[in-house]
Amino acid sequence: MTDRRKVGIMGGTFDPIHMGHLILGESAWEQFGLERVLFMPSGNPPHKKDRHGATNEQRVEMVRLAIASNEHFELSLAEMHEQGYVYTKETLRRLRAQNPDTDYYFIIGADSLLSFDTWMCPQEICDQCILVAAVRDRMSVKELDFQIEQLKKRYNADIRKLESPNLDISSHTIRSRYSGGESIRYYVPDAVRTYIQNEDIYGNC
Ligand code: ATP
Ligand code: MG
Repeated sequence: MTDRRKVGIMGGTFDPIHMGHLILGESAWEQFGLERVLFMPSGNPPHKKDRHGATNEQRVEMVRLAIASNEHFELSLAEMHEQGYVYTKETLRRLRAQNPDTDYYFIIGADSLLSFDTWMCPQEICDQCILVAAVRDRMSVKELDFQIEQLKKRYNADIRKLESPNLDISSHTIRSRYSGGESIRYYVPDAVRTYIQNEDIYGNC
């Protein structure tokens, strides 16, 4: 049997990237022995059509700054398209065609797992990757376990639970804290905080 490569995908709007995303990526890398984790900002997320906030370039730059010191984190621009929507199933199909020796571990928070049925072609996503689910916010581990079992049955999916701390932090909180003049120190890496301040990205959010 040949050894398959294991690569994580941490997808998101990253508006801005924050400690929650980074800890998720690091936890998955550690728990599943991943070779690396691709941080993949979404160019035009179907569920966030009316988004305000950072430009695509700014979101990419914040990801770049946030992951610079981690040698097993990598920026991927695979979903950075200006035109058209980008769907996970298509991204996975492309990546797998390019790297047939690799298993992809798609990392998502509990809120994304709950809305998973509404994603474009959930069956195709499940057929093409291992889903790694993390607890989030007020969702209990019991609820997460229940949802995992449901999706496993419905899509014959390979879903693993990520043992990560429950971090009550979101990009939304950071945007509103910044626009309200509150500190975002420790919510995001220092380099990202400096960048947000210099560009005054979330002044009007
Ligand atoms: P927003 O508040 O704008 O929705 P967000 O903090 O949810 O932003 P996203 O870029 O939407 O960040 O999230 C990308 C992925 O990371 C999603 O799968 C989401 O569930 C997950 N995620 C983000 N923050 C956390 C967190 N604190 N704990 C667990 N998962 C998280
Ligand atoms: Mg979100």
